[in-house]
Amino acid sequence: MTRRRLDPVADPVLVIATHNPGKLREMEALVAPYRFSAVSAKDMNLPEPVEDGTTFIENARIKAIAAAQGSGKPALADDSGLAVDALHGAPGIFSARWAGPDKNFAAAIDRVRRELAWRRTGEGASAHFVCALTLAWPDGHCEDFEGIARGSLTFPARGERGFGYDPVFIPEGGTRTYAEIDPQEKHDSSHRAAAFRQLEAACLA
Ligand code: IMP
Repeated sequence: MTRRRLDPVADPVLVIATHNPGKLREMEALVAPYRFSAVSAKDMNLPEPVEDGTTFIENARIKAIAAAQGSGKPALADDSGLAVDALHGAPGIFSARWAGPDKNFAAAIDRVRRELAWRRTGEGASAHFVCALTLAWPDGHCEDFEGIARGSLTFPARGERGFGYDPVFIPEGGTRTYAEIDPQEKHDSSHRAAAFRQLEAACLA
């Protein structure tokens, strides 16, 4: 399959199509070696589109296309979430919505804990993060990539770093949550990094 490549000389500005500060930090770090001037959709005052897709990739496309067409520049969007095996993949694409309009992730984490307790499980429950990345151009062309990071859940929440569900997620082979480890460690091995490595190989390298 022929991929469209992103050329920092022809397109020096890359819009990071997110209003989520945690994702923005991680996405800026991932694109940093490429010398794009990265600007967020929030800083460009682009509206947040309605995410009514049924998959991570559909939602990433909605955000990337809206930002690319709203700005006239290539845009990179992330749609991601936590999938818990014992909850049949929930919260999944509803990961942000479980936190409600106030983006209360303590409440979202507590819902995960309660739903697992109801099924007589919790500590050590297997889960994975999924990240879909879509690179879109103003003409509507899209390139999509998906990465996952497997691990398990621990309760109560631990750690002050990261965002979202990081304080209850222990990556496979580790003992500390994503909110306890050095951000560089997450940067090297996360679902977002896994998707970005594919994007790099296909569209940037
Ligand atoms: P959306 O992609 O805007 O629908 O939001 C996805 C939600 O999933 C975020 O608000 C986070 O709560 C959660 N999420 C996605 N990636 C991560 C991550 O790397 N760590 C913790 N939570 C995440």
